Amino acid sequence: MHGNPKTAIRPAGWHYGRRVYWIEGLPLIGHIAFGVIDRGTNVLQVRPSTLCFHNCIFCSVDAGPSSRRRRSEYTVEWEQLVVWVEKVARVKGGGLEALIDGVGEPLTHPHITRIIKALKGLDAIERVALETHGGSLSKSLARALEKAGLDRINLSVDAADPRLARSLVGVDWYGVDRVLKTAEWIIANTSIDVVLTPVVLPGVNEKEMATLVHWARRVGAGRKSGWPTGVLIQKFEIHKYGRKPSTVKSVWGWRRFYTWLARLEKETGYRLLVDPGEIGFKPRPRVEKPFERGDRVTLVLVGPGWHKGELLAVDRGWRRVVALYGLTEGEALTPGAEVEARIVRDKDNIFIAVPY
Ligand code: SF4
Repeated sequence: MHGNPKTAIRPAGWHYGRRVYWIEGLPLIGHIAFGVIDRGTNVLQVRPSTLCFHNCIFCSVDAGPSSRRRRSEYTVEWEQLVVWVEKVARVKGGGLEALIDGVGEPLTHPHITRIIKALKGLDAIERVALETHGGSLSKSLARALEKAGLDRINLSVDAADPRLARSLVGVDWYGVDRVLKTAEWIIANTSIDVVLTPVVLPGVNEKEMATLVHWARRVGAGRKSGWPTGVLIQKFEIHKYGRKPSTVKSVWGWRRFYTWLARLEKETGYRLLVDPGEIGFKPRPRVEKPFERGDRVTLVLVGPGWHKGELLAVDRGWRRVVALYGLTEGEALTPGAEVEARIVRDKDNIFIAVPY
């Protein structure tokens, strides 16, 4: 299906000084910030929105009020998103998980419950999960998510201490006590499971992890999913376009991280080291790449890119959206113009190109 480069995205307001674009006519594979991401397993990442009302000081994707590297934000037309999930699902077979996550807070999408309901209605989708930092979670929202068919919330709570949690999330209205109380209520009163997905920042919050583990054990996090754990601790990593808090003096390597995790597992008597298979991951065929790194491709410009210096483009066959770097601002203002480009990144069907 070919689209119209002049109407593929349209301005739809502002977010902390950045233009928000409503995406309604683009291929929804190819960009890391929105659409569908296939990493070769039965878990499809579904990204409906780049907006975020949190402002985490360690944010790996530089989201929220203090973002410095972004020039645009995107919200995806929900029916199109579901159509693209279905397309990808056809290649991968049944028994899939749709994990709604993103480079922002998925709960900012105005039709998030419609997305969940529609995904849950697809034959190939077995379960639907959603990643959130939880600032907007409430009992009434949880009931709406339950009604839509949500199976699990991956809750990114990074500290149990209210002051530390607030400083990590970077907004003074964030109350971790309320978030954890709501999460506990969700586990006890709805069909939705909750698992914690904290990021451990060396020298900042590693002592908080034991408290979060005790919380998870007490409330039975992960149990409804049949998982051996309700806490999936993430390692802090520095990303090219992410934020690094000044309080983090060193970044752990993988060996150090796993040694620390094994020690915490022993101290708490709670499973923290798990195989991907134990939490539902299975290898699956990947969606084919229409072009590869090094290929010369004619790209059609469609509008401003996510980051400064980036433009959104699609290939002539309208199969993938591509992040194009290296053109001047003037060229950005001509949707429909064609550019000869070289693909410099193609991993997981996420494409970056530069002019040829
Ligand atoms: S880490 Fe997540 S919740 Fe926090 S600012 Fe980044 S995108 Fe938003």
